[in-house]
Amino acid sequence: MQRRQFLAAAAATALAGCQDTPRTLAGGFTGIDLARGHQLRDLLKTGQLPAPAVVRRTQVLIAGGGVAGLAAARALRLAGVDDFALLELEDEAGGNSRGGVVNGIACPLGAHYLPVPGDDAHEVQDLLEELGLRKRQAGRWQYEERHLCHSPQERLFFQGGWQEGLLPVQGVGASTLAQYRRFSQQVQALGKAARFTMPMLKGFEKNKPLAPVHQALDAMIFDDWLAREGLDDPHLRWYLDYSCRDDYGAGTARVSAWAGIHYFASRHGFHAPGDAAPEEREAVLTWPEGNGWLTRRLAEPLRAGGQLRTGCSVLRIAEGRRGVEVDAFNHATGNVERWQAQRCVVALPVFVAARVVQQAPAFLREAARRLQWAPWLVANIHIDAPLQDRPGAAPAWDNVLYQDANPGGLGYVDAGHQRLEPGALLAGPTVLSYYQALGDLPQGRDQLATLPWTHWAQAALATLAVPHPDLAHRASRVDITRYGHAMAIPVPGQLAFLSQIGLQRFTGKRKQLSNGERNRWLPTPATARLAFAHADWSGYSVFEEAFTRGHAAGLAVLT
Ligand SMILES: Cc1cc2nc3c(=O)[nH]c(=O)nc-3n(C[C@H](O)[C@H](O)[C@H](O)COP(=O)(O)OP(=O)(O)OC[C@H]3O[C@@H](n4cnc5c(N)ncnc54)[C@H](O)[C@@H]3O)c2cc1C
Repeated sequence: MQRRQFLAAAAATALAGCQDTPRTLAGGFTGIDLARGHQLRDLLKTGQLPAPAVVRRTQVLIAGGGVAGLAAARALRLAGVDDFALLELEDEAGGNSRGGVVNGIACPLGAHYLPVPGDDAHEVQDLLEELGLRKRQAGRWQYEERHLCHSPQERLFFQGGWQEGLLPVQGVGASTLAQYRRFSQQVQALGKAARFTMPMLKGFEKNKPLAPVHQALDAMIFDDWLAREGLDDPHLRWYLDYSCRDDYGAGTARVSAWAGIHYFASRHGFHAPGDAAPEEREAVLTWPEGNGWLTRRLAEPLRAGGQLRTGCSVLRIAEGRRGVEVDAFNHATGNVERWQAQRCVVALPVFVAARVVQQAPAFLREAARRLQWAPWLVANIHIDAPLQDRPGAAPAWDNVLYQDANPGGLGYVDAGHQRLEPGALLAGPTVLSYYQALGDLPQGRDQLATLPWTHWAQAALATLAVPHPDLAHRASRVDITRYGHAMAIPVPGQLAFLSQIGLQRFTGKRKQLSNGERNRWLPTPATARLAFAHADWSGYSVFEEAFTRGHAAGLAVLT
């Protein structure tokens, strides 16, 4: 039986036998410890930190254990440096790319996929090789089938039914298709006129200003650019708005035209129906626990080597002539611990770094003043039986609603999608991870901080009940993960500002690491003893940006 038929049959069988018993919903807030972050903010506001109970020494201190901090640690290890410590506020490293468990089922708490990286992201390619996900076979690079997203990858709930893919095509008119083609041609032409690289810092060169194409696109709102080009089709505009919310946390009315084009031009382009899609480049790697699979593997050697210190909030980073002093609050002991290091990688979000770095450099203060962050939430919904489904395309890994009643709603991914056991596909219990980007919602952050978990859980269940009318009867638990400052929004003018930071320190020298990587120095925001690494420095947040920034900062502190 084809996988698709099997899914439909499994759902029908289960529905025939199920009782429509209303459920009492279990759940709560999980993942990020907002109280810890706020405790830190309050401690910093008083300006009076408790005296340190202990003083420790290390060569390099890494503040923050998200993808960037973990990548910096890996770069140090590969360069043969073991004398370092990584301090992370939460009880587990990984930041926005952590995995969780609901009723025994692994699911993402934040980031859930990594597109197969292009050649500009060779640091990420090297990591994937190291983890056995990328291998050269018969002269060609192959990705581990087990972790490439299985088919069907995505579907859209559009006009009462499911269609394959996320671009609205079912029943759309000739004028819509014509605008799809025109946008596709525009992306191609702009991609030829200037380099759109992922990670973006690979496109910048010392002493060279931004390309005129980038400058012009960066100066305007994406919506205005689309209007100028006469691209006003509602289906095209919906798709572009969805894409921007998905990668940037805010839609086309907020992000720059550079960001809107970069989304497509830096990865797989934009493919109008009928275009030959280069399938390999559109492939994504995913795991039940999302990118938590990657961050756990990055953290493992640090845990084994004793360098990872979780539950430690960095309160103060003071750069002196002879070294760096870092004070951190240990949440387990209730003590402040002082670290003395020769150098420090500040892998913290920019707004946190600006608070804790003493006499912060001008570029850090300016970045904290300019950047705007989108709040996000993830609702992990445990269901114990298959869901009733509307007609059309079969259940996919990513399932998006054209009309989502929740502001910023981005649909759900199924944590059970990659299962291999026969009969396991959506037939048994699974977790649906529903995403909501709140960057366009006024007061979104305040609402996240104040509304109860039941508000977000009920809103997610209500919107998903349109394609799955029996969801409320199948859902046994909903866990909500909140991110107050999930990701920087690439607003107009940001590229021009961020692209110049760090270039003055860019030497272009090569550095050989123990795994033989083809490394060279990358432009890194830095002072004499501090190197800054976080996706914020790219102005938008994806794995490739965070990882490359961390890798570059790890190399920068070795000078
Ligand atoms: C809901 C959501 C979904 C996403 N989905 C994807 C996806 O599918 N694919 C993708 O590529 N990207 C995705 N992203 C983007 C994601 O942010 C990046 O991929 C990446 O994880 C960012 O890593 P980072 O190290 O730059 O930042 P962060 O993850 O923000 O890491 C910063 C770390 O610093 C720690 N910290 C903060 N303050 C302190 C302190 N005072 N002391 C010590 N530690 C501190 C934090 O706890 C955190 O661990 C998603 C993001 C969110 C929020």
